[in-house]
Amino acid sequence: MEAKEIIKIEEKNSDKITDRIEKSKLDDICAYSLDELKEVMSSIGEKSFRAKQIYEWLHKRLCTDFDEMNNIPKGLRDRLKESFYITFMKPVEVLVSNIDGTRKYIYELRDGNVIEAVLMRYHHGNSVCISSQVGCRMGCRFCASTIDGCVRNLTAEEMLAEVYRIEKDTGERVSNVVMMGSGEPLDNYEESIRFIKRISSEEGLNISQRNITLSTCGIIPRIRELAEEKLQITLAISLHAPNQHVREEIMPIAKAYHLKELMDACRFYYRKTGRRMTYEYSVVKGINDNADEARQLSRLLSGMHGHVNLIPVNPIKEREYESPDRKSVEEFRKILEENGVNATIRREMGRDINSACGQLRRRYIANAGSSID
Ligand code: SAH
Repeated sequence: MEAKEIIKIEEKNSDKITDRIEKSKLDDICAYSLDELKEVMSSIGEKSFRAKQIYEWLHKRLCTDFDEMNNIPKGLRDRLKESFYITFMKPVEVLVSNIDGTRKYIYELRDGNVIEAVLMRYHHGNSVCISSQVGCRMGCRFCASTIDGCVRNLTAEEMLAEVYRIEKDTGERVSNVVMMGSGEPLDNYEESIRFIKRISSEEGLNISQRNITLSTCGIIPRIRELAEEKLQITLAISLHAPNQHVREEIMPIAKAYHLKELMDACRFYYRKTGRRMTYEYSVVKGINDNADEARQLSRLLSGMHGHVNLIPVNPIKEREYESPDRKSVEEFRKILEENGVNATIRREMGRDINSACGQLRRRYIANAGSSID
């Protein structure tokens, strides 16, 4: 296996705790819509076109410092600095795959928490996988993100900044966003919706909603609410089991929301949006990977207007789960296809910097010697 490259980010500005306390009196300017910025400008006696310029600097030119705004007079820049900050999202480590150019970013947030985001380069364009929460409280047994629970929700601006900083760092356009990093986006509903609307807006990065995927473990009332939002995003359901019994064993959320009702919610979502779903199925050796389970899954998904993404489970050291060999995952896929269910095996990106959802963050925190909360 080729050696991975780890880039440690040098401390450029002093982002010490004292600075953070000082900054905490300020407001995140990226949270303001264009109209709200216009109001701010008029309240301080500035022309309204300044709002458009500032918005563009923040959401199109992705600036991270008011002094980069070179068409804004210095006096106004200084005034802005007195009341606002630009979303704090500081890359502290970047892991670069020598195989396919995948880049995994560890970011530090304003309150000192850390999260991770990943850039994957496909032939159809660049895709960024973002986190929606610091940690997660859903408790899926095979997932590293959830081990220490959920610390807090991310704001929409923080989610935007995860993408912005990657575009800025690489100078490459991001065409796809997947909300599949740490956290449960539907457990942070308002901010996730605000993020989707912002990133797909013309005043922002203008990423087509069809190129945005939201992945959920299956919070039924929120899936129904999302269906009414009139978004064109792809909804991915983390199914991971062909029946209620197995699902309950690996996903605690299944106890609250029964599989049959989840399938009803998926039918409702499809009826309302006309968008085909993706069903994610992490294949775990001896837990959900036998031929009988493949047939059960085919029956469950027959007529469901979606396709299955099979993900050989990425083992985490805190759990005993193992990944099946490639041949048995291929066998599982064949059974689904034979029974009329479309299925693909997810291509593994960044094999040399491979780490399961949430593992990088945990490793970074452990190495930094700080505690998770
Ligand atoms: N909370 C959301 C999104 C984040 S997880 C959800 O549950 O969908 C994104 C996907 O990665 C989910 O399908 C999740 O079940 C899966 N996943 C998490 N840890 C994994 C692991 N160790 N191996 C394989 N898939 C994993």
